[in-house]
Amino acid sequence: MLYSEVRKGALEYGIDVEMVDRMSKKKWKNMVKMKIEKKMEEIGREKIRGMKKLKGMEGQKWGRQEYINGMEVRKVSEVMKTKMEMWDIGSWMGGKRNCLGCGGESEEMEHIWECEEVARIVEKKEKTKFIKEYILQREIVDRMK
Ligand SMILES: [Zn+2]
Repeated sequence: MLYSEVRKGALEYGIDVEMVDRMSKKKWKNMVKMKIEKKMEEIGREKIRGMKKLKGMEGQKWGRQEYINGMEVRKVSEVMKTKMEMWDIGSWMGGKRNCLGCGGESEEMEHIWECEEVARIVEKKEKTKFIKEYILQREIVDRMK
């Protein structure tokens, strides 16, 4: 996804990406997290309203558009999470874990991206997809414990 698209998407959340330079990293992350949560809530409510409206109507086209918008919003929010290192990796959200691959190094984004052991279980593709797949694998492993 292009930066201009991310910027446009972010503006829909009321986030000005240019503001990142004028704020501390922590403050910025908290603000983005709050705004994304608020927007997702709004979308959820709109969706429910839309579904009620669609019942007994032949508004197929409108429903489809709504679905695509929902997908776009999720995509933008995921790309932003990657950019802002907001995924539940390492110390983010107060967690403290070791790398799923080698188990020795602490779980930091820079490390898991480079770790050869991780590369054997998670295909290294686009970064957002990689992180999502990593977290999924980690959840599977956690559940087996
Ligand atoms: Zn590792």
